[in-house]
Amino acid sequence: MVQMLKTLSFKLIIALSVSGLISSGCASWNSSDSGHRDVASTRKASSGNSDELPFRTICPPGPFDGKLIIHQLYVGQGDSAIIRTPSGTIVLIDGGESPNYEKVIKPTLQNCYKTEKIDYIVLSHPHSDHFGGLLALTKDNTFTVRKFITGTTNMEKGETGSEFHQLITNAEKLTGAGAGTIGHGKSGGGVTLGNKDIVDSKVVFNVIVSNGAVLNSGPVPAAYESADVVRDDNSVSVGMLISFGKFKFFTGGDITGENTATGASHPNIESSVAKQVGQVDVYKASHHGSDTSNNQDILNALRPTNVIVSVGAGGKNTGTFHLPRKGAIERMNTLSSVENIFMLSAGASEDISADEMNSYRKVKNLGPEENGAVGSDAVVVVDEGGRSYEIYGADRANHPISVFKSK
Ligand SMILES: [Zn+2]
Repeated sequence: MVQMLKTLSFKLIIALSVSGLISSGCASWNSSDSGHRDVASTRKASSGNSDELPFRTICPPGPFDGKLIIHQLYVGQGDSAIIRTPSGTIVLIDGGESPNYEKVIKPTLQNCYKTEKIDYIVLSHPHSDHFGGLLALTKDNTFTVRKFITGTTNMEKGETGSEFHQLITNAEKLTGAGAGTIGHGKSGGGVTLGNKDIVDSKVVFNVIVSNGAVLNSGPVPAAYESADVVRDDNSVSVGMLISFGKFKFFTGGDITGENTATGASHPNIESSVAKQVGQVDVYKASHHGSDTSNNQDILNALRPTNVIVSVGAGGKNTGTFHLPRKGAIERMNTLSSVENIFMLSAGASEDISADEMNSYRKVKNLGPEENGAVGSDAVVVVDEGGRSYEIYGADRANHPISVFKSK
């Protein structure tokens, strides 16, 4: 009954937001945001043609210059984010599965950010729900790419990775880096730990972890079975602390955090990472909210105000990967710093029913409904100087609305 009431009250809030939109052109979906926002003109001002964006994809309000935009794209079961810095540098982190290139990444870069130039692509690790869209991008002639960054070309035993290696070959050609130069190297792999590989005048991209090696503490032995074989592809993910003024964001691909000493198979990289990071404003939950990631050490270190969980609804999400998982959602929901856990899709999974998900007070499912599931992008817009930030999601009518505003 309590769960039902919470579900109903959440739906009521959505209904009120949508009716507010229709009746007054204003909507606020945020208890801490007392101001009203003209969504219609926001859409118009943002790009002029946001309506050309795919369903569930939104464009944040412009102009963008002077602001840091972190645009976590809705790519179903997968991960992809566009980052636009205050001076216009474009960084694409991961690309979801292959169809997301044509469906989501290409139209968002062209129609929302008005660009066919990508300064940096960062591939967190060699799994298709992260690199598929990037492989499609490198086969297309639309975008120029200055630099492609990934930690390693080593993979799990038994993993052939032919598509992944095709991507690396394509990226070496596309960027002019030269054959055999991407993803190779020692500590950190093809990525230099620290603030080295992505250079921007206003935003600091600090690589904390790559290829199983952590900044200031070196390789985590459990990450590798042998010199050329990783124990778990997820554990070699590239993780970055992105700072703009006092604003901080952590994104770590599918980095893992189990204790291998107890026989677990997902090496604990997170507890080493935890020692190198402090509090952040926004955290992209690692590994789509998996229970073998998002361990208590890293959550205690990051103490985020807002969490974004990139998951799909149904299909591979519930049938194959079973993400997100109850343990991780519960850890984040009980962390006192957390105000919101934004789900890019209503991520009911194997061990969390839809009603149970709604019972978590901080969980907010974004987006319009389609085939019984909701979903949308989540876009963090950080003001000039990094003093304040706002998060946008889509409401049930697929209009961008403010879902969080910092004080
Ligand atoms: Zn993944």
